[in-house]
Amino acid sequence: MGGPRPCLERNPVDLAAHHQAQRSSGAHRARSRAGGSMKFIFADSLDYVDPAFDFIADRSPAERQPYWDDAYPHEILGYAPYDGVLVSRGIVGDHRVKGKYTASQARRFRLVGARKFLRLDKPEFAHLDIFGDCGAFTYVQDEKPPYTPVEMAEFYDECGFTHGASVDHIIFDFDAGLAGLAGGSTDARQRFDITLENAEGFLREAKVMDAGFTPMGVIQGWSPGSMAEAARRLVAMGYDYLALGGMVPLKSPEIKLCLEAIRDTVPASTRLHILGFAKADDIDSFHGYDISSFDTTSPLIRAFKDAKQNYYLPGDGLALRYFTSIRVPQAIENPKLQRAVKKGMFRAEELVRLEALALGSLRAFDRDEAGLEETLHHVLVYSAPLVEEKPYEDCAASPSLARLAERYRTTLAERPWKQCSCKICRDAAIDVIIFRGSNRNKRRGIHNLAVYQDHIERLDLKRAVEPSDDLPRRLCAAEQ
Ligand SMILES: [Zn+2]
Repeated sequence: MGGPRPCLERNPVDLAAHHQAQRSSGAHRARSRAGGSMKFIFADSLDYVDPAFDFIADRSPAERQPYWDDAYPHEILGYAPYDGVLVSRGIVGDHRVKGKYTASQARRFRLVGARKFLRLDKPEFAHLDIFGDCGAFTYVQDEKPPYTPVEMAEFYDECGFTHGASVDHIIFDFDAGLAGLAGGSTDARQRFDITLENAEGFLREAKVMDAGFTPMGVIQGWSPGSMAEAARRLVAMGYDYLALGGMVPLKSPEIKLCLEAIRDTVPASTRLHILGFAKADDIDSFHGYDISSFDTTSPLIRAFKDAKQNYYLPGDGLALRYFTSIRVPQAIENPKLQRAVKKGMFRAEELVRLEALALGSLRAFDRDEAGLEETLHHVLVYSAPLVEEKPYEDCAASPSLARLAERYRTTLAERPWKQCSCKICRDAAIDVIIFRGSNRNKRRGIHNLAVYQDHIERLDLKRAVEPSDDLPRRLCAAEQ
């Protein structure tokens, strides 16, 4: 031991044990919120995986029933890698808005409620919040939201949400330079008024029906000043929990300007939530803005939408560390490869052979039966048709292939999947870092959620102990 060497480098990163220790010591963040820590709410959109998926055969059992046999992140990990889940009405869908749920899933959601539907109805998940919003992005083109405040209040109440956002209408034109209520297009001002009118009706209804959820007033505006004015009016209506909407396209400095303007206007006791926080990786720069909660899906989405930074690990100090997962697409299903075959550039059988070679050597590498350079070579030979649309021999020295080789070499050399002991990395081994199909990619996303939650908790610890020189030792102590 000796000295305060950060134990964050411990190997492997035992996230499950970390959470187990926190729970058994009663130190779980969700139960001791007095310190003002942030809640990380995961915005779900049916993000489950098949626990019985066979990586070698590359398929699910024939009798698999999606949803029923599949596992949510909190089921496959054995603990919830979030403080709560957000479900958008727009994702559930109905006859007006096409959601992501099937008609029978939407019916079941209404019938059994959010907690049971999400399979969070077990004692160990009882502390998790279930947030609801309207999913304003699904009706952004409409003149008015398709839901009434009364209808949404009933929906949240019937489905057992713990928190429900008022019926907002997204304002997209944002100008950080405008002061007060200056500027704003006619459309922006109409949406501003609709959002506030709905918020008033929503709060009234929630009170009348003695709703079982905490109403949240959604802020929409076209500038920090207009958002602060919306916040002021929401507080005047009686809200003590506000949600900032329309943040998705904004950059972090713009979001901070809005938070500053709002914080200057509302009482210190007013809680703030950021809806659809796309800048989740930047959350450590948001300290001091007193955010009570935010919802995001980004750690999961990044696993298959980000080309480079799609596998997370805890980094030095309080940072995250990113790795590039290795693309081995399905030769006979990948649209780009199929086009190349149709154009006569490759034979399908040849692509299937290269694909098998790449997968085979990656697995052999994981078992220490193949060398790094040899494995990398097989991966790159199969990458060339995808990246350059040329046989490897014709583009081996291309800059994009060289850049890819560099990133893949780092991934293979560091074997990050062996540095994590979450259930997914233990079970899937190298397959967690192979970019291929939903079952691998979503598993990687769920692993990312676990690392991200750990990241958030470390940031909270940081706030609790700052300023202090023995931060690393304290973190270690807290993580033992
Ligand atoms: Zn993991």
